[in-house]
Amino acid sequence: YGDFSPKIDYVFKIVLIGDSAVGKSQLLARFARNEFSLDSKATIGVEFQTKTLLINDKTVKAQIWDTAGQERYRAVTSAYYRGAVGAMLVYDITKRQSFDHMARWLEELRTHADKNIVIMLIGNKCDLGSLRAVPTEDAQEFAERENLYFMETSALEATNVESAFSSALKEIYQAAS
Ligand code: GDP
Ligand code: MG
Repeated sequence: YGDFSPKIDYVFKIVLIGDSAVGKSQLLARFARNEFSLDSKATIGVEFQTKTLLINDKTVKAQIWDTAGQERYRAVTSAYYRGAVGAMLVYDITKRQSFDHMARWLEELRTHADKNIVIMLIGNKCDLGSLRAVPTEDAQEFAERENLYFMETSALEATNVESAFSSALKEIYQAAS
């Protein structure tokens, strides 16, 4: 890009974790490319996407990692968590089990990741309100108890997706600067 390449002040690695099919890959597609697909194929291979944004006049490059469809505890290796300064812990508001598993994902995170990692709990698919199986209050309570930020999102309708990532990035930025 020669002279046009912006100066990057910070690169922040963020990992997406949570059960299979909760919408992690679609949240990333929505945030990084403003895309969404209803029949997204299972993620193949560990991959990340980047998005550069301005926070307090600084250029911040978010490098967001998506799991390789190996969403079982301990299958996600410590290399995935290495260097991560943020984590999005995602469940599906229509799948109680995906929320009940949040405690185990959190335990994995606390075992493998840096102790100062910023964690955002995300209840995705909030467009499917009539199928809701996880009351917002349950998640709020869990988030408060575990000291997590919390937001409900819809990758489909683009609700709170930008806001969830940018809030996490702002917290990370504050901790880093
Ligand atoms: P992952 O396994 O966690 O990466 O989940 P995917 O991103 O592959 O999504 C699994 C399925 O849920 C796909 O069919 C998506 O289209 C769908 N999905 C993802 N996010 C949303 C959402 O916000 N609302 C609805 N209704 N469906 C979603
Ligand atoms: Mg995926």
